[in-house]
Amino acid sequence: QNFVIAIDGFSSCGKSTVAKALAKKLHFVFVDSGAMYRAVTLYFMQHDIALDDLPAINEAMENIHIDFVPNPNKTEILLNGQDVSDAIRTMEISSQVSEVSAIKQVREAMVAQQQKLGAKRNIVMDGRDIGTTVFPKANLKIFMTADPYIRAERRFAELAAKGEQLTMEEVVENLAHRDHIDSTREESPLRQAEDAIVLDNSQLSQEEQLAFVLDLYEQ
Ligand code: C5P
Repeated sequence: QNFVIAIDGFSSCGKSTVAKALAKKLHFVFVDSGAMYRAVTLYFMQHDIALDDLPAINEAMENIHIDFVPNPNKTEILLNGQDVSDAIRTMEISSQVSEVSAIKQVREAMVAQQQKLGAKRNIVMDGRDIGTTVFPKANLKIFMTADPYIRAERRFAELAAKGEQLTMEEVVENLAHRDHIDSTREESPLRQAEDAIVLDNSQLSQEEQLAFVLDLYEQ
C-alpha cells in the first residue's frame, strides 16, 4: 500500500518548500500540482486559447502532456517534451493561472493525471485541492497558512532574485487575486479538508516545519 501526503494551502505559504524537503527525506516522489496548472496556462498563452472557447480548450487538453523529470538539483517540468520549469514562474503566468485553473475541463484533466501519478507510489503532492478532491483518502493531510505580509515578502524576494521588476503592491495584489479565485471557484475550491492538520509557518524555520510534518508522519 502506498503512502500519500497532501499539502494544501493559499498561495506562497511555502508549501512546495516543505513538500520538497519532506519527499527528499522520506524518498517519496514530489509533485507540484500548481506547476501543472501553470504549464497548462503557458500552453493556452502560446496557442492563444480564449478561456471561453470550449472546443479549443477540449482539444488543448487532449494535446497537453506534462511530465516531471527528477534531477539531483531540481525536478524539471516538461510540457510536451519541452522544459518549461522557468517559463511557468513568471508574473505573466501567475496573473492568469487562477482563471485557467477554474475551468472545469482543465481541472478534470489535471486531477486525473495527478491521481495516476499517486496511484502506486509514495508521494508528496502540494496544491489547493489535494486533500479534498485529488486524494480525499490521503494518509496525511497538511493545510498550510502564513501571515499574508510574510507570504508577500517571500514571493517578492523570490521574483526579485529572478530579475522580475515588481513592486510589493503588485505581489500583494496577485496573491490576494489568486486566493480569491481559488477559494471561490465552483470546481474543487481551495478549502481545508476536515481531517487536515494546520501548519502556520509564519514564525517557523524550514527545519522546524520539516520536523513538524515528520513528527506527524511517524505517529
Ligand atoms: O502552487 P502555485 O501557486 O504555483 O499554483 C498556481 C495556481 O494554480 C494557483 O494559484 C491555483 O490557481 C492553481 N492551482 C489549483 N489547484 C492546485 C494547484 C494549483 O487550482 N491543486
